[in-house]
Amino acid sequence: MISKIADLAISKASPGMLAAISNKTPRALLDWKARESFCEVVRYAYRHSRFYRQKFDSLNINPDKVRKPSDLGGFYTTPQDIVEHAEDFLCRQPHMVFESSGTTGRNKRIYVSMDELGHIGKFNAAGMLIGGVRKTDRIVNAFDFCIWIPGMIGQKSLEHSGMLGMAAGKVDPMEVYKRIPTYNFNVVLGEPTWLIRLTEIAEKSGSYPLKFIIGGAEEMPDAARPWMEKVWPGVEVRMVYASVESAGIMAFEAFRKCAGGYHIDENNFLVEITDPDAEGYGEVTFTTLARRTMPLIRYRNRDISRIIEERCPCGLPYRKLARMRGRSDELVVASGGNIYPLMFQEILKDVDGITSEWQIVLKLNDIKEVMEFNLELKEGRSAEDVKRKIFSNIKSHYPDLWKNMEIAIFETSFVYHKPGEVRTGRKLLRLVDRRYVKQECHGE
Ligand SMILES: [Zn+2]
Repeated sequence: MISKIADLAISKASPGMLAAISNKTPRALLDWKARESFCEVVRYAYRHSRFYRQKFDSLNINPDKVRKPSDLGGFYTTPQDIVEHAEDFLCRQPHMVFESSGTTGRNKRIYVSMDELGHIGKFNAAGMLIGGVRKTDRIVNAFDFCIWIPGMIGQKSLEHSGMLGMAAGKVDPMEVYKRIPTYNFNVVLGEPTWLIRLTEIAEKSGSYPLKFIIGGAEEMPDAARPWMEKVWPGVEVRMVYASVESAGIMAFEAFRKCAGGYHIDENNFLVEITDPDAEGYGEVTFTTLARRTMPLIRYRNRDISRIIEERCPCGLPYRKLARMRGRSDELVVASGGNIYPLMFQEILKDVDGITSEWQIVLKLNDIKEVMEFNLELKEGRSAEDVKRKIFSNIKSHYPDLWKNMEIAIFETSFVYHKPGEVRTGRKLLRLVDRRYVKQECHGE
């Protein structure tokens, strides 16, 4: 009953009210509310969704007896489930569907209703207000519209924020750059790679006094943030963590002092870490607490992170997710060990003379495995120096990989491209495995 009253209060509250109460909510209350909502969504899903009913029945799970996630034992939902049975998850009439690319070639589908989009938009607007965005600010939303969700989520956040906004979509960054002074935009939303291109234009042609750059939908390279903050004087770069499956922002950096972690929106998501290692890193697993069209219960989203329990210096009561350590389904067994995209990010991050656009392709040369580095060489730089630095980084950061290379378990090859040539599509696949099938892609 109290939970129902709390839900009603939330549905009536404005983003401003949500923002105002956000740092005063006691942790115990957040935890209690999340547990209540969890029990509710489990029972609801059992009653209304074919998928959950069949699964729970086959595992002898009585939803009325479930009090916490661990009461579901080994029950999880996976990307494979929503590739194969998306419509069996449905509990009521959906209004909109989004897709995300999968590594298997078949796309994941997420269905939502308009009121759910509005709900998540309100919480996202509250998140922006918490972080210091104000009604008087002017925002340009350059997240991609169409089949993927981020453009729509940005749009819904704008609708609730009360600010002046432009739904630009992922257009040529020059188009947005030209309009920044026309409308005095001071907040820009977009994918990190798009924001990097916008900043390159500003570095060359002059920058404007932006207040916030908010990135999401992919990782921001380490070196990009300080560089952006230098090019746009006074700007703060913030990142959010979201996916098509979360259908909204699941976690966010509220302030500069939150660096190193994203505050989880614990009003809407219950997050667990599955199979944690000794440091607490494991697979991010979440339950959607408010969605009723296609609720996801204990969804294993393949990202690897850990939960930071300690209170953040910013004062918000919400727990944080540490920066992602890559995705568990990107891991490839190759070159005599496990390799994954983040490994190459570490190897390439301080190599002078190349851009941040790169791709590693695993191939076979007859039977010999080849790790091919596709790099964009900046004008006038020495390919030999780049190679030397890469080898020295492999040796110091990944001695096992170095050893396998030295003993010729695999070969390396280097292909140098001109800047702008490596990225050919919307997402740049960092690690591509072409050894045994025509083309199997890992990573985004
Ligand atoms: Zn914080």
